[in-house]
Amino acid sequence: MHTTSHTPRRALLGMSLAATATAGLSCCAAPEQQSKGTAASATPASSGPPPSRGTHLVMLGTQGGPIPGARAATSTALVVDGAIYLIDAGSGLPVRFSESGLDFAQVRAMFITHMHSDHYIDAFNFFSLNWTNWKFPDQQVAVHGPGRADLSGPEHSSSPGLPEKPHAPLVVPDAPTPGIEEFFDLSIRANAYDINERLRSTRRHGDVPMDLTGRTGDALMKAHAIKVPQHANVVEHTPQMQPIAVYEDDRVRVTATLVDHPPVFPAFAFRFDTDDASVVFSGDTTPNDNLSALAHGADVLVNEVMDIEAATARFKGSALYATMANQFATAHTPSRDWTPPGGGARKPGVGRVAHECGAKALVLNHVYPGDGSVPDRDFKRAAERNFSRPVVVSRDLMTISLASLV
Ligand SMILES: [Zn+2]
Repeated sequence: MHTTSHTPRRALLGMSLAATATAGLSCCAAPEQQSKGTAASATPASSGPPPSRGTHLVMLGTQGGPIPGARAATSTALVVDGAIYLIDAGSGLPVRFSESGLDFAQVRAMFITHMHSDHYIDAFNFFSLNWTNWKFPDQQVAVHGPGRADLSGPEHSSSPGLPEKPHAPLVVPDAPTPGIEEFFDLSIRANAYDINERLRSTRRHGDVPMDLTGRTGDALMKAHAIKVPQHANVVEHTPQMQPIAVYEDDRVRVTATLVDHPPVFPAFAFRFDTDDASVVFSGDTTPNDNLSALAHGADVLVNEVMDIEAATARFKGSALYATMANQFATAHTPSRDWTPPGGGARKPGVGRVAHECGAKALVLNHVYPGDGSVPDRDFKRAAERNFSRPVVVSRDLMTISLASLV
């Protein structure tokens, strides 16, 4: 275990948690949303985007997994003095962002934790569908995410980032594990008609060209692969490491570490240090030392959560049972301390993870099951067994404000 050099630029002395309920949330909320014990009922509700000053979380999509349901898939906006940083871009981001009232023109960067579809599938759509909302030609949004997994693996692995099963067929065998740069390149190719029509039409009418891709000047969006340490690969997927410097501007410093989400490689957690707070996003991961080190002393830990028993029970009798049970057992963070039924090492629950890294508050996202079959209050109580500070089970379009600074 090593310690990181992270310290918030100023200490966070207090925090207020405010929940925002909007029409978009109300229309699709599961019944337990209004139940006692959720943040929505514990604090006064407000509507609209967060205040222009300070650091705020706007939870855009809060469900674990790619199956559409009551919640949108994972995506969060971190808003720092009005500047917006997106963490993950699961299904529903373009709609939820519009519903939130956040300003597209204030989006500065997007960070993708890993190449599972519930974390990136709307990354390109977010830019494309909202093309009239961007500030052309002045706005540029940096997108940081995983590089091609097959460029980072040991020689003996048939395809780093994929399960080792050499004789199983692959889709696109010459490039089976594209990263975020290839995702954007290929999305541009697939959407060329729409992009070209709008680009030519705006130029023809003498308007500012709508240039998503940089064909005529500066691109609205530009993808960057996060470079992983040389000693990291699909076998050594979470070696002890110093945080990776990913992004910095006048509002935030963003660092990353590799987390444990087998068989996916690479999978990142991100830490944002602002003038008034530090926030860590776990991404998808089982509890591990790299995440603990990155989150050490953070003000807020935004961590995925899974009720493993309930998740596994959903697939009893299914043809996918073995695959899903294994994934739930090995790749995610349990809602409470959990020991595999057949024996094995006990996994700490999410509350213990937050306690051990010294977080001042815990926000649960990527909630699974997120359809209400496990009430939010159960996730909250489970985390509180090992964590005595505020716990919020997030809901789509909930705003969480981190305030009271000196
Ligand atoms: Zn995942």
